[in-house]
Amino acid sequence: MMGKTENLQVLKDQFGRTHDYLRISLIEKCNLRCQYCMPEEGIPLTPSKFLMNADEIESLARTFVNLGVKKIRLTGGEPLLRKDFEAILAKLSQFPVDLSITTNGILADRFLPIFKKHQLKKVNFSLDTLKEERFKEITRRSGYEKTMENLDLFIREGFEVKLNIVLMKGINDDEVVDFVKFTKDLPISARFIEFMPFDGNKWDRSKMVSEQEVLSAVGSTLGSENLIALPDEENLTARKFQIKGYQGNFGVISSVTNPFCGTCNRIRLTANGRIKNCLFSNQETDLLTALRAGEDVEQLILEAILRKKAVRAGMDNLEKLSDPNLHSDNRSMIAIGG
Ligand code: SAM
Ligand code: SF4
Repeated sequence: MMGKTENLQVLKDQFGRTHDYLRISLIEKCNLRCQYCMPEEGIPLTPSKFLMNADEIESLARTFVNLGVKKIRLTGGEPLLRKDFEAILAKLSQFPVDLSITTNGILADRFLPIFKKHQLKKVNFSLDTLKEERFKEITRRSGYEKTMENLDLFIREGFEVKLNIVLMKGINDDEVVDFVKFTKDLPISARFIEFMPFDGNKWDRSKMVSEQEVLSAVGSTLGSENLIALPDEENLTARKFQIKGYQGNFGVISSVTNPFCGTCNRIRLTANGRIKNCLFSNQETDLLTALRAGEDVEQLILEAILRKKAVRAGMDNLEKLSDPNLHSDNRSMIAIGG
């Protein structure tokens, strides 16, 4: 059991950014097939013997915590499909970290008591539309009603709830204002995420909805005089806004047009135990093989962080990002975890 003493180590990169936020992908499988995330034909799954087991997740997480990590987010694939989810959560909850999860929400009700028991209070639900038919088109599966029910349940139960909405032109960009109105009487944060390019998701620049477009749509319908810019948070990923008198707020995660690289504090661990030092990077460091071989994992982590580039894994302008030779050998988002 970890002591609660403050850890003095920090994971700094060569640009002085401290990395204290670890996102762990628990699984590559998912019960949805979101167009922007999962290629239609699926992805080749890593055989389970090459995925981290619960003890290995605990061991790697402990090394990160010893290096100063203070926040851990569980993601996937769909993290709640992991059969040993509770065992993993129980192991991670012994660390002095702020625990959170990103889920499509379909199975969330079954896990509510488990989240409560292990102090997981922050839940991001991914939901790209408020229309049932459209949900089926985007996710290529059904589950809208269950997601909405669970969203409501978690808000009522007092969880800190955020909504992740990937905006795509001609698909759901007409719902920006509906989503903002959705926050009127709910204490939630709706975060519009710019559609990002990954292997197999048929990205092109014209499908992306920019922060400016979101703000114009909201301003012209709800009145720009009612639009309040909220103070920036430390390590912000979204500039936040609120409509006067609304309980909730909204933000735009503009990783593509206006990345938040300058304050990045994030490290990603894939389900097969590799570090990605940036969402846009196709270079990975295999911690799991090293752990199994009894090698020095801490040193590998330090080196991976030092290799981190200043902006979007070196794709420092939109032209580079639009070049399929640069991003197409990055994993699909399903195998990174967002
Ligand atoms: N299955 C869970 C879920 O959907 O919340 C967790 C994994 S999912 C990969 C994590 C986040 O990545 C989701 O909020 C999803 O919307 C986002 N995401 C997936 N593909 C994306 C893309 N191409 N551009 C932007 N965000 C994406
Ligand atoms: Fe599954 Fe989440 Fe990807 Fe959708 S975004 S396919 S729910 S992992």
